[in-house]
Amino acid sequence: MLTAKPEINSLGPLAKSSYLFSRVEKLKISEEDIIKSCTLTSYGINSYRKLTSKDASLSEDELLEYPGPNTPNFDDLHPTAQTLFRQADEAYWNARAGSRQRHLQIESGFRTVYRQAELFICRQLGEPGCNPADIPGASIHNSALAIDVRNARNEEVINALDNNGWDRTVMPGEPWHWECVGTAEHTAAARRRQEMRAPGSIARQWQSQWTSARRKNDQRNSKIDDFNLRLEIWQPEWDQLTREIEDFERVVEQHNSRVDQWNRDRDAFNQRVNRYNTEVEALQALRERIEEMEPSEERNRLIEEYNRRAEAAVAEGEELSRQEGDLIARQSQLTREGEDISRRNADLERRFNRLNSEGEALLRLRDEIETLRQEIESHLERASRLLDEIAQLVHP
Ligand SMILES: [Zn+2]
Repeated sequence: MLTAKPEINSLGPLAKSSYLFSRVEKLKISEEDIIKSCTLTSYGINSYRKLTSKDASLSEDELLEYPGPNTPNFDDLHPTAQTLFRQADEAYWNARAGSRQRHLQIESGFRTVYRQAELFICRQLGEPGCNPADIPGASIHNSALAIDVRNARNEEVINALDNNGWDRTVMPGEPWHWECVGTAEHTAAARRRQEMRAPGSIARQWQSQWTSARRKNDQRNSKIDDFNLRLEIWQPEWDQLTREIEDFERVVEQHNSRVDQWNRDRDAFNQRVNRYNTEVEALQALRERIEEMEPSEERNRLIEEYNRRAEAAVAEGEELSRQEGDLIARQSQLTREGEDISRRNADLERRFNRLNSEGEALLRLRDEIETLRQEIESHLERASRLLDEIAQLVHP
């Protein structure tokens, strides 16, 4: 006989775990963009060659007549400079009668403003073997009115030039450098040198463009070093974190699918509990009805039915108690898993935020590097145009 209604609690839903990483895009940093060197060579800072001239080995001792100059770099001199050099060379030739070497030797004479720019840049960069050089357009060499001679400290060389219209203008720093001071052409070239050296001149503009390019190139290279160093640290950490997040997402998905299954089982359980409770209430009503009835065939039949259904209800109650215990145990298990997921989520989130902001900083740094490259190119283009303008002025 049924005596008491079994205590069956219906269970509330269990929440799924959520995670933070589903909408995160991976940071892609293309290392192809990062080119270590920047081209500063539009007019050849790397192509600097040492000034050389062939050794003129001559055997003119027997010549009685002065044969004319015999040195490299003579033909490119200005006609006025050629005349004065020829005079100096003849004086030297006469003074050196009986010697093997009787000609003055020009180490460097005419230079284009482009060559002048190379020498100036070479000096600015502190490369080995670079003498001081004026800015392009300002050097008297650009007007073909200056020479650098060999054996510059030799008395006979000095006398020959000194007595024939040549002056050393950069003393004591460059005793080899002579200019034909006093000629009309030199006066004009010296005036242009003053103009070119003045602040704001076209040559100073060229210098400023080139200096900006150089400064930005240094900045760019140091940013590239910084970028590469930080990327080397960041990339493996990011890859590792990405793999961990993928693993974590699978764990969360499996957990959530077990949570879904638990919720479905709970719904089915609750429905069964409802049916059970309905049956228990129906049985109580039946029992009250039976108790009010006079003994009869009908009453006997109802008692039989009551006992049969009550027996089934007791078994159902026991089954539901077992199911409830099972659901509660699974619920505790899933709750512990959910808490573990939350902890892992917090740890991953912390690492993600740190690496993500470093990745964004790296992307900004890459943009700065690219901007510098564009600025350097634009400085070099402007410098190149200015140098063409200087060339048109100096070599008309
Ligand atoms: Zn010189």
